[in-house]
Amino acid sequence: MSELDNGWEAVIGMEVHAQLATETKIFCGCAANFGDEPNSNTCPVCLGLPGALPVLNRRAVELGARAALALGLTINETSIFARKNYFYPDLPKGYQISQYDRPFSSDGTLTIMTSERDEGGHARDWKPMTIGIVRLHLEEDAGKNVHEGLPETDKYSYVDLNRAGTPLAEIVTAPDFRTSWQAYDYVNHVRRVLQWVGASDADMEKGNLRCEANVSVRKKGEEEFRNKVELKNLNSVRFMQKAIEFEIERQIRAHEAGEEVFQETRLWDEKNSETRVMRSKEDAHDYRYFPEPDLQPLRVSGEFVEKTRAEMPELPDSMVTRFMSEYGLGFSDASQLVSDKGLAEYYESAARASGDPRAAANWIQAELLRELNNSGKSAAESPVTAEGLAELIKFIDSGKISGKQAKEVLPEMFETGRSAKEIISEKGMEQVSDRGAIEKIVDEVLEANPEQAEAMFGGNDRLIGFFVGQVMKESQGKANPQMVNEILRSKM
Ligand code: ZN
Ligand code: MN
Repeated sequence: MSELDNGWEAVIGMEVHAQLATETKIFCGCAANFGDEPNSNTCPVCLGLPGALPVLNRRAVELGARAALALGLTINETSIFARKNYFYPDLPKGYQISQYDRPFSSDGTLTIMTSERDEGGHARDWKPMTIGIVRLHLEEDAGKNVHEGLPETDKYSYVDLNRAGTPLAEIVTAPDFRTSWQAYDYVNHVRRVLQWVGASDADMEKGNLRCEANVSVRKKGEEEFRNKVELKNLNSVRFMQKAIEFEIERQIRAHEAGEEVFQETRLWDEKNSETRVMRSKEDAHDYRYFPEPDLQPLRVSGEFVEKTRAEMPELPDSMVTRFMSEYGLGFSDASQLVSDKGLAEYYESAARASGDPRAAANWIQAELLRELNNSGKSAAESPVTAEGLAELIKFIDSGKISGKQAKEVLPEMFETGRSAKEIISEKGMEQVSDRGAIEKIVDEVLEANPEQAEAMFGGNDRLIGFFVGQVMKESQGKANPQMVNEILRSKM
């Protein structure tokens, strides 16, 4: 990053399109399921036939409201749908119904955690960063052009309109990001939050979360923006980060060489690890926006907003704070447990059921997550339920088994789905915590090793370890080691 040291800074703004998780499309009753047979989920409205009228899907508004609230936006009482005019084969009406000067929600501030990465891609230093979210508006998706064959032999192109009219939330940030990793952490934050509140599946691989980055560079201290490039076709968050990184360096090099940086749309070419020109960028006025005459202004009451807020699950950030205060966890433990909604819920159930939140965190982070990772399962799919884990923790806390034994029990619970109780009794693992029984073994062991016993009673502390070992051996590992220790010391 020598160029950046040379007084340059990057200016990055993000646009995310998230498909809202409705059953049906935004302006008609067709299934929002575009994996089906091409053009099977279509009707006169989403085919754009003359005279067909759109009707707004209430569920799309509810999910849009969830997304807006989760990202710190203010929902506007009145918003206006507008026609965004352009021609493309996957857009049969010749315009997209979107929102323009009166968006559904605006003026958000969002705090994310972000960190630069070292050479190995590891985050070093997570810090909060607050960014502006300019708007989240509602719009319909276009269809999809499908091209058959390799470019040289390409004979046919098809249009599949199953996706046409699927509801989208378009989320636009202020140009507040200065590094590619900030943009990366932002998109991951958005993805998680949208999934968390059930607004969107937000799966980039399935195309229901798509992101674009607007990237320019300038000399530090400059107020004006220089020409920006819009990066599209970013099929994963990692590709997006690489594309931004490439673009920052390309632009700095061009400016330093006195070449012009054109305002254009560029694609990420993963094979060659570079961005390429797709087209010169249209300005907003090229779209000739005007209010959609077939739809009323969308009015949202304060009651609706409050009801939506009340129905939303607790957000991850507030859950982290609560886990820290309620269960005495540190920030990094709480964050790890809240990294996934199912895991957070699992932890909370286990913490409550076991009455030992600290142990629940340790067992989940150290042992359970390993089993889950190895089996490719999520916490919600864990064969060991939160209650099952809590039972195991209680066995340890009450001294019935040792932590070491529990480490054998858990993988078996995971594999077989059986309870801790069954496995412990089958293995005959119960620790002996009966004082009289242990005392008897201790006496036997002391008698069998008179020289060592004399040395220990003479003050050689190190022999305590030897005798604890002997008693454990004699009891086949079942004696409660803490109690053995106590008894030996009481005899000294
Ligand atoms: Zn339809
Ligand atoms: Mn859009």
